[in-house]
Amino acid sequence: MKIFFVTFGCRLNQAETEKLKAEAAHLGHQFSTSESEADMVIINSCSVTDKAQREADKYLQKFRAKYPDKHLIITGCGARDEHKKYAAVIKNDSKSDLFSIIAGASSCHSEYSEAEPRNPLKNYRTQDGERDFSARRSAKLVEMTGSGRTRLMYKVQDGCDNFCAYCIVPYLRGRERSFPADEIIRDIQKAEKAGYKEVVLCGVNVGKYSFPVNTTRFDLAQGRTLQNGNQDLAGLMGLILKETKIPRIRLSSINPDDFTNELIDLWAKNERLCPHFHISLQSGSDTILKRMGRKYTTQDYADLVKKLRSKIPDVQITTDVIVGFPGETEEEFAETVEFVREINFLKVHVFRYSPREGTRAAKMRDQISDKIKKERSVEMQGLESEIRQSILKQYIGKEVEVLFEQARPLPAPHFEIVRGSSSGLTRGSIYSGFTSNYIKVSKKSKKDLTNQLIRYKIEEIIKD
Ligand code: SF4
Repeated sequence: MKIFFVTFGCRLNQAETEKLKAEAAHLGHQFSTSESEADMVIINSCSVTDKAQREADKYLQKFRAKYPDKHLIITGCGARDEHKKYAAVIKNDSKSDLFSIIAGASSCHSEYSEAEPRNPLKNYRTQDGERDFSARRSAKLVEMTGSGRTRLMYKVQDGCDNFCAYCIVPYLRGRERSFPADEIIRDIQKAEKAGYKEVVLCGVNVGKYSFPVNTTRFDLAQGRTLQNGNQDLAGLMGLILKETKIPRIRLSSINPDDFTNELIDLWAKNERLCPHFHISLQSGSDTILKRMGRKYTTQDYADLVKKLRSKIPDVQITTDVIVGFPGETEEEFAETVEFVREINFLKVHVFRYSPREGTRAAKMRDQISDKIKKERSVEMQGLESEIRQSILKQYIGKEVEVLFEQARPLPAPHFEIVRGSSSGLTRGSIYSGFTSNYIKVSKKSKKDLTNQLIRYKIEEIIKD
């Protein structure tokens, strides 16, 4: 069976698609590079932003119009009952059992067989001839083939207890929970053997990683424990550094209030830990942060960034900012503009606030008009671009190490890239990849650079 995966939304969703792919590979399926060649298309959708939700809806409609008979499944937090007219819907809380469900192995999910009477996976058996779809959660993660083997998005934590006023995630993904450190280590060791050069640890709230230490499974002398017997994120990072040799380890994103001194010290001392943090800001106005229910002030944020910059060489910070939160005044927006300028972010993902039904902010008065949201978003993006340019310019003439991912005909449209020396080549592919501090770099080459860590000098900044 050839499967084509489509992922919308955040890095966590990407990590979850990787798990689904691993499982598919374990079950003997192949991956298709296009929907037209696939026997089955699986959409992992997202509803965190309106945009992600709209993209998935649009994809479903277009796909169904083009391929009326093709086998289509939608899962993820954007999967809704109304999608049943286009696809088989597997709700997000059943996503980890997706293959069991579509194979008819689980009796609790009749919805799938109703929606897809011609289920091609019905009675599908594993390569061993067994109909065993259990116990493969992450263990088979790196037995996958065909996914590039460069950068592995790996989920270590799920759920969130924060309930920020604008966010639907805690209702969709439930309470915070973490995966066992020994499983994580085993999977990263497998990833190393499979050739991955970088692992990105993902989670809804990765800074809240916490797992009860089981002394029979781990030699505690090798790691670090807290007094309450829980392994925190710094403890997990310490173990990964000790037990694996993967060259790069990155965090997907983290809240400012989740940094500990131990975590910062680990980053200061270990070059394998990528000097890049995506630290969610959301607003540079303290009054808005309070209304959002965020647990830090702009002063806390600025102090943290100062500390990171003083301890970790060449660290870069990226962030998310929401503009047009209910009641956001001109003054509050101006404070955010000022703060973004002060912090000097390498990248700011700007989101226009959109009400999510079921959240506190959706019921707040003084919703901001689309026109003002758009104006503020444009202004913020302009500022972001200006700051980014000035940071990137500082890299011209500097030598950096890049992990090249696959060649693409054109670089991703929303990134500026810093181009390195092309050794005089005029033909070949354009390879792009990232420095450890998350600057996107491209290089023209006739040789295959995929999955290689290469040092070279930055030549110029180009915009794509
Ligand atoms: S920390 Fe806030 S924004 Fe992030 S997932 Fe949890 S509730 Fe949503």
